[in-house]
Amino acid sequence: MELFDTHFHWYGKPEPQTIVDEAESSDVKYMLCSGWDSASSQNAAEFSEKFEGCWFSAGVHPHEASGFDFNFHPFKKLTSYKQCRAVGEVGLDYFYENSDRQTQLQVFEKFTEFALEVNKPLVIHCRDKENRNDTYIETFNVIKDFTKDNGKFGIHCYTGNGYWLEKFLDLGAYIGITGIITFPKAANLRDIINIIPDDKLLLETDSPYLAPKPYRGKTNFPKYLKYIASAVAKEKNNTVEKVAEVTTENAFNFFELNR
Ligand SMILES: [Zn+2]
Repeated sequence: MELFDTHFHWYGKPEPQTIVDEAESSDVKYMLCSGWDSASSQNAAEFSEKFEGCWFSAGVHPHEASGFDFNFHPFKKLTSYKQCRAVGEVGLDYFYENSDRQTQLQVFEKFTEFALEVNKPLVIHCRDKENRNDTYIETFNVIKDFTKDNGKFGIHCYTGNGYWLEKFLDLGAYIGITGIITFPKAANLRDIINIIPDDKLLLETDSPYLAPKPYRGKTNFPKYLKYIASAVAKEKNNTVEKVAEVTTENAFNFFELNR
């Protein structure tokens, strides 16, 4: 079985070699390290250049939007590297609202233009307060224009409802599922997971956050992806091997990688 962790973060510890070795012995053969600002995007590039089967994305998380200077240094350079397979994560977060909404939206829109310019898929973060849809409405409007220009995108760590899931799927979205699928309270996510067509489903740990059961509340690592794959397999009434095969194939398609 070969799993692909399509989204994890690296904060400098533990050593990349440890993360990769442990992941490999847990069937995670491929992984993509996601940046959330310029420094972490550079670190993600360094992490991924050492290993076969490891790639990275470069972007500015909505939490960091207010620190963005709009000149796209060092993103122009980073996205020219062969290991860079996506722009992200970028998007909107009105749950924490660490940067004001207008700035988040401006930075997000600029990054959609940038993704088109460098011809890379976009990895989107979209989170709102419970029962609020502002981020979904605004993300949808931005992405509608982006896809008209043939932009390709994935929504990472999807936690929205079925209505918005279908709207994004209509625009061609890939959908990332995290350890939240294993949380007892995430019945809504388990209810809608079967709306996602098999060829659009991605698995991710979003580590070091969101450790799946039985590690919930602890530090997460790419090696725990198999718990997410098992939970997805259960909901899909399929084997974990089949889920691994399909989602890894999808990740190769989304990031435009060759086997
Ligand atoms: Zn993330």
